[in-house]
Amino acid sequence: MKNIIRTLQQLNRQIHMLEQHYGRKPGSVGLLAVSKTRPVEQILAASQAGQRDFGENYLQEAITKIQSLDDHGLIWHFIGPVQANKTRAIAANFTWVHSLDREKIAQRLNAMRPHDMPPLNICVQVNISSEATKSGITPAELPELARQISNLSRLRLRGLMAMPEPGGDLARQRRPFRQLRHCFDQLNAEGYKLDTLSMGTTQDMEAAIAEGTTILRIGTAIFGPRSLPGAV
Ligand SMILES: *Cc1c(COP(=O)(O)O)cnc(C)c1O
Repeated sequence: MKNIIRTLQQLNRQIHMLEQHYGRKPGSVGLLAVSKTRPVEQILAASQAGQRDFGENYLQEAITKIQSLDDHGLIWHFIGPVQANKTRAIAANFTWVHSLDREKIAQRLNAMRPHDMPPLNICVQVNISSEATKSGITPAELPELARQISNLSRLRLRGLMAMPEPGGDLARQRRPFRQLRHCFDQLNAEGYKLDTLSMGTTQDMEAAIAEGTTILRIGTAIFGPRSLPGAV
């Protein structure tokens, strides 16, 4: 527990230093703590260090945690692949979805978002170049999906997400993030008001900060290596 608190403080300092180094506005880089496979106790420890936003990939696991941490004021982000039969529970339990890549899923999330909740915040996942996952649409498909989402009143299109193949030096890691930022700039030039670039994990956070990320999605650097069988 103590460790998580100290690690988070160090990570936040490092993020602030990198913001300065790359001429980013102080506080413009947000931190999503990716808590998949981590027990509730570790999430609580992180929340004691001031961490509010948490990312989960697996719905069943996430729902259990969300329910047991109900009164802690945490903000939950769904970052895993969205299956059609999971959309009702996702729409009812999360504040954000980062991994939307199909119109059909957008329609279902829109229809199922409970009316006593504000619109669901959405990032479209873009497959920039040989992504680590098979998820995400191509940049060419992006304008059409963005247009469809913007017509859905229970969804609020906030930005774009990518998860590039890990590896390479800093210059190489920056390339896909720069491409995602170009997609983002292009949509905003067409009149969208996107404010979110969800990019950068433990091993490429510096590259993502350099290229304009507004939400880092970080698990390992906060909680340590994932060890549960089947964990990605
Ligand atoms: C697991 C995961 C992360 C966090 O990766 P780390 O290497 O642990 O920082 C970020 N984004 C997505 C979509 C993930 O599935």
